[in-house]
Amino acid sequence: MDYRTRQNQLLQSEEISKCDVFLVTHLPNVRYLCGFTGSSGVLALAPSGSVFFTDGRYTEQARTEVAGARVVIVRKSPLAGAAEWLLRSARRKSGLRAGIESEHLTVASRALLMRLLSPRLRLRNTAGVVERRRMVKDAEELARIRAAAKLGTSLLQAALPLVRPGTVETTLAAEMEYAARQGGAEEMSFPTIVAAGPRSALPHAHASANPVPRRGFVLFDFGVILAGYCSDMTRTVHVGRPTAEARRVYQAVLEAQLAAIAAVRPGVAVGEVDRAARNVLRGAGLARYFTHSTGHGVGLEIHEPPRVAAGQQERLQPGMVITVEPGVYLAKRGGVRIEDMVVVTGSGCEVLTSTSKELIVL
Ligand code: ZN
Ligand code: ZN
Repeated sequence: MDYRTRQNQLLQSEEISKCDVFLVTHLPNVRYLCGFTGSSGVLALAPSGSVFFTDGRYTEQARTEVAGARVVIVRKSPLAGAAEWLLRSARRKSGLRAGIESEHLTVASRALLMRLLSPRLRLRNTAGVVERRRMVKDAEELARIRAAAKLGTSLLQAALPLVRPGTVETTLAAEMEYAARQGGAEEMSFPTIVAAGPRSALPHAHASANPVPRRGFVLFDFGVILAGYCSDMTRTVHVGRPTAEARRVYQAVLEAQLAAIAAVRPGVAVGEVDRAARNVLRGAGLARYFTHSTGHGVGLEIHEPPRVAAGQQERLQPGMVITVEPGVYLAKRGGVRIEDMVVVTGSGCEVLTSTSKELIVL
């Protein structure tokens, strides 16, 4: 990964160029900018040279991983270490402006900075500056995302043979997570969702002790982290003969998902992708049961910008990776969601989690 170029581009961005130093505290952003994968660290980004602060547990790891920044090991918290370094810099020049990631710094951390730094330095709030740059993936990131999506996609096969009345949701999740680890996953990108029968109407139901019923939907939403990058997909299958309503709901969600994927191309506002899915469900009289947004960006984090939601103006660009995941949830009866990850190409998009989406009846 070319961390120096990423840092230089960020330093030239409008918001950051107004700061003398930019304190990166959100760990996925730290990783994006200097390669550090540990759980404690602060990157002070400055035109004169960036400095990365971490604690003694990461001495060796930081020296191996961090590129484009000088590594400083501190005895106290990395943020306090960064603040002291800033003070030393401020001695040479007063009135320095330090940019902070306002969405990620806790109130307590901000108070600590204020106490240590004022009145010499001023804090300047920024929001989503690094995240905006992370939206468009480079070739190396795309290769990792493809690999994660490929492993993620294979996991459903581990669960399907066990999908029958009486199998509990956690057993199905366990099979998938075991297969993920065997395939090299560092971890799951979020707690695996397996929701059987009426629980499939809960959009974010983690696998529980609930058994698969004789008849009903079973919804699987799952993903892995491979080389730091997340995958995310959802498939919904049916146990026993589907009712006419179940078939109709599944078909409507599938058509909505295909319509939204067809809307993905460079220059289109993400809100239009959401609208494409919602229009199909409106036509089927099901729009009010689609209670979440159509998708989200995926990368170092499972949920990252852009939000693919109603009215969002962000324009798609080649290299963006988003999910397309409309769903319909009928309380106490069941729900259907179908989700793919797609990468925006020069003329449209490519589905990274491609398997058959015809209704599987077990
Ligand atoms: Zn998902
Ligand atoms: Zn998702």
